[in-house]
Amino acid sequence: MTDLHRLSIREMTEGLKNAQFSSRELTQHYLNRIAKIDTQVKSYVTVTAEQALAQADAADAVLKSGTAGILTGIPLAHKDIFCTQGIKTSAGSKMLDNFISPYDATVVAKGKVAGLITLGKVNMDEFAMGSTSENSYYGATANPWNLNHVPGGSSGGSAAAVAADLAPFATGTDTGGSIRQPASFCGLTGLKPTYGRVSRFGMIAYASSLDQGGPLARSAEDCAYLMNVIAGHDQKDSTSMEKDVDDYVANLNATAVKGLRIGIPKQYFNVTGLAADVKARVEESLKKLEDMGATLVEIDLDMVESYVPTYYLIAPAEASSNLSRYDGVRYGYRCEKPVDLEDLYKRSRSEGFGAEVQRRILIGTYALSAGYYDAYYVKAQKVRRLIQQDFLKAFENVDVIAAPSAPTTAYKIGASLDPVEMYLGDIYTIAVNLAGLPAINAPVGFDSNNLPVGLQLIGNYWSESQLLSVVHQYQQATDWHTQRATIAQETV
Ligand code: GLN
Repeated sequence: MTDLHRLSIREMTEGLKNAQFSSRELTQHYLNRIAKIDTQVKSYVTVTAEQALAQADAADAVLKSGTAGILTGIPLAHKDIFCTQGIKTSAGSKMLDNFISPYDATVVAKGKVAGLITLGKVNMDEFAMGSTSENSYYGATANPWNLNHVPGGSSGGSAAAVAADLAPFATGTDTGGSIRQPASFCGLTGLKPTYGRVSRFGMIAYASSLDQGGPLARSAEDCAYLMNVIAGHDQKDSTSMEKDVDDYVANLNATAVKGLRIGIPKQYFNVTGLAADVKARVEESLKKLEDMGATLVEIDLDMVESYVPTYYLIAPAEASSNLSRYDGVRYGYRCEKPVDLEDLYKRSRSEGFGAEVQRRILIGTYALSAGYYDAYYVKAQKVRRLIQQDFLKAFENVDVIAAPSAPTTAYKIGASLDPVEMYLGDIYTIAVNLAGLPAINAPVGFDSNNLPVGLQLIGNYWSESQLLSVVHQYQQATDWHTQRATIAQETV
């Protein structure tokens, strides 16, 4: 079969159960596509062909024995931020170019238990800091819709791999939009769960109070399958919530769009820099939801001007602390011939970290320093609380909140926006992380350059099922999520 990559996850599970094809055939099919197409997309940092085929053979044996789980034998790609035992985990950094983790992240371990096959590790902005995936030690990844454009970031490799059909679905992480924005740029569905829903154990830390793992896939249904694997409490992560998980697949039709109150924050649609095409596509998608029975309610989210300054203090502050562990002593990059300990620290860190990571460590260290702590860090924490309260107030009157995922479509590779311009592009995603809420991106059409546009729906705490369900029903009534980039249509 030459078109296995066109199947949905559900169709793949059925094909495997009915022995229409084997996991080895499915896995080999993706490996062939990666070998042929990824030379142009450059989404993978590491392809684990041998292990993948061995895992696939084991999965086929389990499938034959009749004891297989729902996803046994389905391949996926992991963002190179999740530790994988025996396989390089780089976080897109020279600092970890030589790092082989001695253990699996909980997300990876759960994937193995479910019988998922790891195709490899995909590219990302260094330590997840960025919005283009260009801040990677391994170079830029291309957007499958137009190879001269970025796939977004930081989970750009995950998004590009799925959009080019080089993996059926992928894991990503979202600290300030890194699942939703690349999903938007690549025409995919991507879910950022409530903080504490998915274990952070073995997920290399960027900003620990904001980081959350989640799925990137073609559809809400495909995301739901992966959420069923990765969601849930983990004793190894003290911030993971002891709360029952939903069956996200079974609940795909549980929330009715009819009667759903969708909040439209008027401030969000007046942001300077919101591209006309993006605004138009998002408004059309809301009109569609209205036609399906939802009620659109104008709401106020007043704090929008505080989002970027607040996030860009808290995230770098936490990053400066988290990244202090990379000192050239214990693991990771070590400079050549240090003359003394201070030289070892200084040169290992200046040579091992890229420019954006160093910028954030400096900002964070400054914001946490004795003389400025109250003026910057403590103040940012207070504003963070106000942002959260603003959302909670809004949820008294609406079920979900709609917004663009990003003010623009995918930038050109090398557009060399200055850092502040780049940070402003995060305006629609970062408040969700500051508040710890779940949110989803769904593709809702294209701009005049045929680059995808995404709608973001933000839910109240623990409402992942509701978000997936609303998007699932939208996707039953529309076909944006089924569109393929030209490069994905290449048969192998
Ligand atoms: N673009 C944002 C940043 O650079 C978000 C990154 C993320 O979610 N990991 O911090």
